[in-house]
Amino acid sequence: MDDPTILEAMRRKGTSILAELRAFASWETPSGDKAAVDHMGSRVAARWTELGGAVEIVPNERGGDHLIGRFFGESDAPPALVLGHIDTVWPLGTLARMPVVGYGDQLRGPGVYDMKAGLAMLHAALEWLRESAIRPPRPITALFTADEEIGSPTSRGLIESLARESAHALVLEPPLADGGLKTARKGVGRFTIRVEGRAAHAGVAPEQGVSAILELAHQVIRAHDLNDAAAGTTVNVGVVRGGTTSNVVPAEAEAVVDVRATTIAAAKVVERALLSLRPITPGAKVVVEGGFNRPPMERTPAIAALFEQAAEIGLGLGLKLTEGSTGGGSDGNFTAAIGLPTLDGLGAFGGGAHADHEHILISSLPERAALLAALLLKL
Ligand SMILES: [Zn+2]
Repeated sequence: MDDPTILEAMRRKGTSILAELRAFASWETPSGDKAAVDHMGSRVAARWTELGGAVEIVPNERGGDHLIGRFFGESDAPPALVLGHIDTVWPLGTLARMPVVGYGDQLRGPGVYDMKAGLAMLHAALEWLRESAIRPPRPITALFTADEEIGSPTSRGLIESLARESAHALVLEPPLADGGLKTARKGVGRFTIRVEGRAAHAGVAPEQGVSAILELAHQVIRAHDLNDAAAGTTVNVGVVRGGTTSNVVPAEAEAVVDVRATTIAAAKVVERALLSLRPITPGAKVVVEGGFNRPPMERTPAIAALFEQAAEIGLGLGLKLTEGSTGGGSDGNFTAAIGLPTLDGLGAFGGGAHADHEHILISSLPERAALLAALLLKL
């Protein structure tokens, strides 16, 4: 099977990939809405069965069920793990103001880029392998989860246990803005700084009060001081709240902090610093809670080698692959952190993830599906 054949085959499937993507996007799947996500999940499961997969539905009471599809199970080589998610950040009803529409080479709509295009591409790749009666060198395990957009609280264990038995992970999340694959991702942490002061009448007895807001202001500055551009560590106090009304010395205040770090070592440094914040104002109490929910995906030599292989396979298709890093996290962070060589950002070209202008480039669907098929065939 020469490489141009794969690309031609995927070009012939272009219309059906697009039609399937349109159908996926027309089913709204906000994380946490079990009925909505399961509606799409059951259709995906049926499609996987049709494509020859052994489907396992992993029940999840706290949201949509997760889906595992095992394909080409004849060989006992460790499988390729293909990772994605069917949930989106978009609430039910978004389609009314943001319908799925084609606009030139763009297909716009909630979830098309992040990341329903990846699922449509996977189906085309699996269908082509099946039609061509080609047996890939290793089994393929597809895992599509239902809670990636909220930090994967119920799927993390599943992702990690499948990662432990796999040869590598191919993550169908959107690529970098220039189409590059993601070979490094920052880890993502979330912390809450809670301050307790003492309430008092602001006019009659202010000296009896301890202002939680003043104390929080000090802590916000300390947290911001942990930003370290050289190390790639970012700290953003994204939410502050506190107090009751203007004539009361505030007894309570809190801040929610987003933290990103490039390496596991840097993540530990910033985590330790945040957890050891101590009060400055006499009488105030400071409690910090939280941690890194996604560990950094570091570009290990194994990941670099996997990219080199992928780049060569891409060249065989006439595609020049590039790589880069991002501050955003994905489930690829989990597979990489346990040492599994991981290639992320294999989804369709486009833009506007989590934004009103979310779209994919229709012309990229066959190319990226061909790349995925070739990776499944050759890695
Ligand atoms: Zn995503």
